[in-house]
Amino acid sequence: MSAASDTAWRVGTVTEVHPETPSARRIIIDVAEWPGNIAGQHLDVRLTAPDGYSATRSYSIASAGPGTRVDLAVDKLPDGEVSPFLVDDLMVGDMLEIHGPLGGWFVWEPDAAPNVPGDGASATAGAASPRPVQLIGGGSGVVPLVAMIRSHVAAEDTTPFRLLYSVRTPEDVFFPDVLADDAGMPALRVDLIYTRRAPDGWPVTPARITREVVESSVFPASANPRVYLCGSTAFVETVAAWLVDLGHDPRSIRTERFGGTS
Ligand SMILES: Cc1cc2nc3c(=O)[nH]c(=O)nc-3n(C[C@H](O)[C@H](O)[C@H](O)COP(=O)(O)OP(=O)(O)OC[C@H]3O[C@@H](n4cnc5c(N)ncnc54)[C@H](O)[C@@H]3O)c2cc1C
Repeated sequence: MSAASDTAWRVGTVTEVHPETPSARRIIIDVAEWPGNIAGQHLDVRLTAPDGYSATRSYSIASAGPGTRVDLAVDKLPDGEVSPFLVDDLMVGDMLEIHGPLGGWFVWEPDAAPNVPGDGASATAGAASPRPVQLIGGGSGVVPLVAMIRSHVAAEDTTPFRLLYSVRTPEDVFFPDVLADDAGMPALRVDLIYTRRAPDGWPVTPARITREVVESSVFPASANPRVYLCGSTAFVETVAAWLVDLGHDPRSIRTERFGGTS
């Protein structure tokens, strides 16, 4: 499958909606003639009012691979224009205008070359051993990372994977079904950071993610990991700066910013 973006607008039919967190909803769409997508890609959703006014927003795709099923997870911004409709009002059977899949940079494929030139791979890194993959997500920023984990699991890929995931409370974890039991893959490790409330007996007091937490949880720079970092703009910029400070090659850090300052 190519990472090239598809510029066509298509109409998808909502087949399932489920509560994802107290503020978010999982939305499953069947999109006729969907070309499939690579883990990490996103799409645009366009809503059009009866008076012709339209608003378009991007949403990461939580699913990957061939087929016409597309999984999304949308967090509601109470004063937002589009997300409250998608979370509160969209119903099974509704049609949605969709543009995509989009994006060819923030993507991961199981059979990708272990070291891509210009990707921060050192000249001495062995082509036989794939570079580890470090996923870092904040809140709904885990959605494209979930697609990468699903891809990793489906392919029974042995590339070492870690996810560092910052969420407010246990109820705010997106895709707990995918992340449960480290997705059943020995090559995947999940580190959860709770910022407001942790489960009973959790060994760490809830607090915002820090440079020290990042340093102790992620693959060290010496392991030359490929890093995928996604969340609010503020989260991504803060963590990316720490990673560079910790010696990670900026060319190895791929970021996706969802907007927002918290
Ligand atoms: C590539 C990409 C992928 C994305 N994937 C997802 C996804 O999988 N799930 C998801 O829930 N969202 C995702 N987003 C964010 C999404 O596109 C919208 O920005 C979000 O749903 C808010 O839209 P809205 O119309 O409800 O709010 P708007 O009317 O656009 O904004 C309302 C207010 O919220 C602020 N704001 C906008 N975005 C955010 C944010 N992310 N956090 C905090 N404040 C914000 C605005 O500055 C404004 O003040 C993605 C964004 C990008 C660029």
